[in-house]
Amino acid sequence: TRQFFLLPSRRLIADCLGLQVQIYTELKATFASGKSKPLAYRKYQLIQLAYLLKDNTKLFEESLASDLGRPQFEAKMLDIDPTLTEIKATLAGFEKWAKTESAPFSLNFSVMRPIIRKEPKGVVLLIAPFNYPLFLTLPLLASAIAAGNAVVVKPTENTPATTALLADLVNKYMDTSLVRVVKGGVDETTKLLEYTWGHILYTGGGQVGKIISMAGAKTLSPVSLELGGKSPVFIDPKCDLKIAAKRILWGKAANAGQTCVAPDYIIVQRDFQDTFVQALQDVYNEFYPDKASAPGQMSRLVSARAFTRVSNLIKNTKGTIVFGGDTDEATKYIGPTVVKDVKPDDCLMSEEIFGPILPIMPVDSVDEGLAYVNAHDHPLSVYVFTQDSDFKAKIFNNTQSGSAMANETIIHPAIHGLPFGGIGPSGSGYHTGKYGFEMFTHLRSSIDSPSWIDMLLSWRYPPYSAASLKA
Ligand code: NAD
Repeated sequence: TRQFFLLPSRRLIADCLGLQVQIYTELKATFASGKSKPLAYRKYQLIQLAYLLKDNTKLFEESLASDLGRPQFEAKMLDIDPTLTEIKATLAGFEKWAKTESAPFSLNFSVMRPIIRKEPKGVVLLIAPFNYPLFLTLPLLASAIAAGNAVVVKPTENTPATTALLADLVNKYMDTSLVRVVKGGVDETTKLLEYTWGHILYTGGGQVGKIISMAGAKTLSPVSLELGGKSPVFIDPKCDLKIAAKRILWGKAANAGQTCVAPDYIIVQRDFQDTFVQALQDVYNEFYPDKASAPGQMSRLVSARAFTRVSNLIKNTKGTIVFGGDTDEATKYIGPTVVKDVKPDDCLMSEEIFGPILPIMPVDSVDEGLAYVNAHDHPLSVYVFTQDSDFKAKIFNNTQSGSAMANETIIHPAIHGLPFGGIGPSGSGYHTGKYGFEMFTHLRSSIDSPSWIDMLLSWRYPPYSAASLKA
């Protein structure tokens, strides 16, 4: 009986993997035909991509609600609107970015007409995470198309409704000889990674990032990694306290803390901790006059596994829970939770939290806080709340991170014109806007050297002689 039930699913996997070969071969052929390169064709596909989103925002709001319990307002504010803005910005800018550039003037070489051709890399692979299924997929797809590539998109299996919708709409709106969505999880991604790609862009956790890097090394496919980490927030007693508390709690509670640039933990001077905690408590009461669990207020954890992991952190912390700590397994709800007096060896400090818990680690001096941050992986963001430019400079000049943000949280990936990326363990490579275009573009150096310059340069040819040295 067991075998009877296993057979169809094995066949299904084999079918899926067979389909991947077919997709890869088709897209290779599209790229080789040159179809993806004309700017007018790229433009049409980008317009279609914008309409894919614009025409279907309601459906996406529903799919995000189903996958992440995401409030409609958060779906619009954090995923749909910034995605549309990014696609439009790529549409507006890509023809300029794609222009061939001349090398700087040089007396010796300018006659050879040295130029930089902006060429697509080929068929590229985008592997996306669950937390912002649109913003971390479609703008990157826009960048890859704008640069003239064919694209395989591998969304995550953890947001089934949005992934299914995306796959369906890509088939309806896009040229499927240019863009294909491959659904599935680890097996399907592993199979995709056996092919040689013009570029692989992976967004997700660092452990899987290592697997992707190693797979890329096997086929010599270039890899960019957009990873995560523990982004610290330094609090200066000389900050705008109310604003700091608001922006931090908002940045932590948005999408139930499942944001790669979420403020992960707070570093605050020991004698200022309680003042800061009171400000957070006041803001919490303001944000959630009813319960945070009330409909439409908070996103839910993405899966039962994520719920268990994050609620175990609440159970196991040795710090003092100031407010929150409320959970509901049935709906995967975890309320915004602030924990004070957290020590460096606490479970809350051992991994990226990726949930709505905010640990506060008191320190005796800012140098102690800096030493702690610098003894750990470079995070995706370092945040500081201060009105003192010296304090800000001290934090920024003595840390390394993907980005450095003062008096704000989580909105910088949506600021057009700023590159978005990590450093070292938080990632490599930059995207959004022009930087996304560049990620998927090969800078192909080119010259066209006229015959007549041999009148000046024939001394380079053998046979070499003593006279050659004087030339
Ligand atoms: P996830 O579990 O949805 O996985 C991401 C992708 O990796 C999926 O498409 C999945 O199918 C694939 N995958 C998972 N295991 C794999 C394996 N063994 N082999 C091959 N492919 C595999 O998402 P996640 O990893 O839980 O995402 C959360 C993490 O992503 C956090 O660490 C977060 O900080 C980070 N993140 C970073 C950014 C950024 O831009 N830097 C953005 C969002 C999330």
